[in-house]
Parts: sequence; C-alpha cells; structure tokens
Amino acid sequence: MPEDLTLRPFFWRATRLFPDTEVVSRTRDGVDRYTYADFGDRVRRLAAALADLGVEPGDRVGTLGWNTHRHFEAYYAVPLSGAQLHTVNLLLQDDHVEYIVNDAADDVLIVDRDAVETLDRLWDRIDGVREVVVMGDSVPETESDLPLSSFEELIAAADPMASWPPLAEDDPAGMCYTSGTTGKPKGVEYTHKMIYAHAMMVMTPAALDIAEDDVVMPVVPMFHVNSWEFPYAVTMAGAKQVYPGPSPDPADLVGLIESEGVTLTAGVPTVWIDVLDHLDEHGGNLSSLERIVVGGSAAPREVMRRYEDEHDVTIEHAWGMTETMSIGSVSRPTSRMADTDREAKLDKRAKQGLLSPGLEMRVVDDGGEPVDWDGEAFGELLVRGPSVVESYYNRPEADATDFVEADDGGARWLRTGDIATVDGDGYIEVVDRAKDVIKSGGEWISSIELENALMAHEDVAEAVVIAAAHERWQERPLAFVVPKAGRELDVEGIRSFLADEFPRWWLPDDVRFREEIPKTATGKFDKKTLRETVDDPELPYAPGGGDGQ
Ligand code: ADP
Repeated sequence: MPEDLTLRPFFWRATRLFPDTEVVSRTRDGVDRYTYADFGDRVRRLAAALADLGVEPGDRVGTLGWNTHRHFEAYYAVPLSGAQLHTVNLLLQDDHVEYIVNDAADDVLIVDRDAVETLDRLWDRIDGVREVVVMGDSVPETESDLPLSSFEELIAAADPMASWPPLAEDDPAGMCYTSGTTGKPKGVEYTHKMIYAHAMMVMTPAALDIAEDDVVMPVVPMFHVNSWEFPYAVTMAGAKQVYPGPSPDPADLVGLIESEGVTLTAGVPTVWIDVLDHLDEHGGNLSSLERIVVGGSAAPREVMRRYEDEHDVTIEHAWGMTETMSIGSVSRPTSRMADTDREAKLDKRAKQGLLSPGLEMRVVDDGGEPVDWDGEAFGELLVRGPSVVESYYNRPEADATDFVEADDGGARWLRTGDIATVDGDGYIEVVDRAKDVIKSGGEWISSIELENALMAHEDVAEAVVIAAAHERWQERPLAFVVPKAGRELDVEGIRSFLADEFPRWWLPDDVRFREEIPKTATGKFDKKTLRETVDDPELPYAPGGGDGQ
C-alpha cells in the first residue's frame, strides 16, 4: 500500500531538505526570524505540550490568531498530532465567536493576546474548552477564570515529540467556518488528503506557481481558509515565508517586502488598494515583488493596471470559497492569447479565470441545465474536486440545499451561490451573487441579520439591506427602510440603534427612507431592482463614508 496523503511529508520536506531557509514573523516590537530547522523543533515541542494538556488524536484545537510564526507552528503541531486545527476569525463579534467555538466543541484554544479580552467576556458562555494557550511568553490578567497558559513557557518545558502518531488521509486536519447565507455560520472540515490535494494544486504553474526560490508573504489571514493554503504549499515548496503579524498596516507590509525581498504575496483587494495609496504618498521599493495574488472579492481592473505600470508587479486574480479550500480558479492569459493586446489581456485577467487543475465545474440555469460557454449566458457555478467539500459539519439542512447530486457517478457538486458566465476560452466571470451576504474588505456582513435587527425597531415597517459597490471595501451595506405611518426616522438614529448589536464595520453606510420597497412576483424584497437603483444617477451613492473595518 502506498503512503496515505497526509501533512507529514510537508513538514519533512521543509525541515529536512531546506533546514536553513528562513521563516520571518513581524511582532508588535520588531521581527522574529528563525529557520525551518528551528520551526521543526518548536512544532515537535508544541505537539508534546499539547499532548501534556491532554490533546489526543480526534480532538479539536481552535485558534484565534494573526499571521505569525506561532500560528504557523500550530498549523503543523495540531494536525500532525492527529488533532484537528479549527481556525476562528478573531475579528468576529462576540456572539459569532461563542457560536463557532461551541458548535465545533473545541477542546483547547491557542490564541493571540488580542483575543483574550473577547474570551474573557465570553467565558461563562463557552462550553468544553479545557485550556487557553496564549501565543506569547506570559499571560495577561483576566476578569474571569480563563484557564490560561503561555505558549512559550509550554514549548520551553516540553521535550520534542519524536514521532507522529499514525495518520490517515481521511482524518480531519482542518476546519473553518463560513458565513451562512441564512442562519448561523457553517463549519467546513478539511481532511489531510484535501489539504494535500489543494496545496499541491496551488503550487503548480497552472495555479500559483510557488517555487523554492520564492519569498512568500501571506497577508490573507490565517483564520481565512488556511490563509489560502500558503502555510502548507509554501512549506512543501521549501520557500522562505514571511508572516506579517498582528493587524499589519500598509507601511508594515511595504517594509517587509523591502527588508525580506518578498516575491509573492496575497490578500483581498482592500489591502492592495491601501498599499497603493500608501506608495503614492510615501513611496517605497517593490522591486523584489513579482506577483500579488488578489482574491476574496473581484480584483479591480484599475488596481491591476496601476501595479503593473507603476511597480512592475503582476496581479494574479483568484477566486475561491471556504468550501473549495480557497483558491479554485486563477486568471492568467494562456498561450492562446499571446497575440492579443494588453487591454484584451486585462479584460481576461479581470475575470475570475480558469478553474484550477483537479477541479471540474458546471454553470447551470434555474432548471439545472448547463448554459452555453459564450461569455453571455449566465447561471450558478457548480464545482467539485478533491479539495471541494461534499457536506457541512452538522448542518443537514444546508447539505440538502447547497449541493447537487451528480448524474455521472462522480462526487456531488457544490452550489457556489456565485452567478457566472464562461467564455469560449473557459474563463469564469462572476457577475452576481445569489447568496444574501455582503463582502466588505474580505469579511462577510449578513444582510439578513441587519434586516432582522432593523425590523425589530419599533418605528420600522419594512427594511432591506443590500451590498452597494464601494471603491475601497468593494462592498458596503446600504439599508432601505420604510418607516411606520406617522413615524420619523433618521440615518444616525438607525445607525446608533444597530450599533448596540453589531460592530461598527457592520453598520450600513447610509439609510434610504422609502414609502415602499419593490417586491418580486412572489412577494420577496426585490434586491436586484434595489441594487440597480443604487447606480441610478438620481440616487447617487457616495462611497467613502464607510466606517469599514
Ligand atoms: P474567502 O474567505 O476565501 O473569501 P468565503 O467562503 O468567505 O472565502 O467567500 C467566498 C465568496 O467570495 C465566493 O463565493 C464569491 O462570492 C466571493 N469571491 C471570492 N473570490 C472572488 C473573486 N475573485 N471575485 C469575485 N468574488 C469573489
């Protein structure tokens, strides 16, 4: 029997073949730097420390952390110990963190100091977590009786684990929650085999082409779908990696590119728009940088052009979802387009691109029939492959709606909720979204949760929230409200009403008051018409007012 597909060879390859290659991590006070050999030692110590805390194969270890070397160590120590790494977004509001940690039934948490305050507030409401390991050399004071221990103290006291327990390719290795279109966030589980398949796919020239001589800085958070698989793919490639640390700003990112010679980096459009603004104002040297992977929301064409013209950097536009383990397509012209001009190439690259190797797709109309690949006909994008999930964690009702049985004996198709066209060259273009969520700077905002809260206001008769296009955040929430007869409402009143329940970055940028809200034939709020009227010159939507995140 050949060896199962697990994370073991990822760890082996970097630590044994590239022991001198560096791993760099920005901290609040400077930069930490070590080699893959040091990484290997610390991962083995962390695994031993987790075992001492009672973590066993099959347990789930949650993390709430920024992109740091310690988080990177957890990415290996947890699954190589046979446990499952569950990354939790530390920017989420309290009740979402509470729901996600409880739903996943995490046994132990490994968290950045920044997350301790949140957990301290929530501690009474969290079940089952035995220990909270703080990624630092001490633990902060808390109000509650959080069972805290220090990551560095645990590592210093532990003897490196000599060998990993038996691992099988179908063992769960990772987990991440995605925002539910309706209802609660949904858990998605990744096995060793899925991570193996996806990381190898990401490395290939047909996807992101990661090589040993690259210097890679993943800016996309490690709580978002394994940081788009960089911590695994880059380790397998044996390349130097640079972790940008807690809430990096554009100056931090440009500084790291300059000091570490970063060749490849990745993140949502907002980050790279902010970096461009920073470069305009303060200058900077991006000469080492060859490519930026931009995804999570559509990469704006103008941003692609400016990076190329002004900094000689290519934007690799990528599409993906939590359910596809991130990167599922990359948009790069093929040899077929060698003779086309720059504008035609930019048109192509602004699309979501060619499906990555190993995946299959279909684009189907409302009746489930495939649409023509003519760049005009649109339908819902369905995908499947070894890195695409076939179900959610404990959510049979979502499994029933979000997947379609295959009629060819293959795995079932994931319904992406993205409405797309496909052109004659096979390039996907996402033209709309069927799911009712707003994506602001790469983070989801639930329009439904905002609507439910608005409808609970005593003076509101009807309310609907849509995504309005925004230059910096790609999308921002815009509310339409019908006041009850004879009641007076104003924008600030509505925003402060919502502020009791939601973080600032969830608040609608504007509230438009209406006598009625357009409805579809079946009586639902007609968000499509509303979205169209936002672009109406009579209703100018002023970007820039957004509080963002
Ligand atoms: P991630 O954390 O990788 O952003 P999510 O599961 O939260 O993954 O979001 C996936 C959704 O984000 C997609 O279904 C799509 O609606 C949107 N999306 C992702 N990448 C792109 C892109 N390049 N262009 C347009 N929309 C995108």
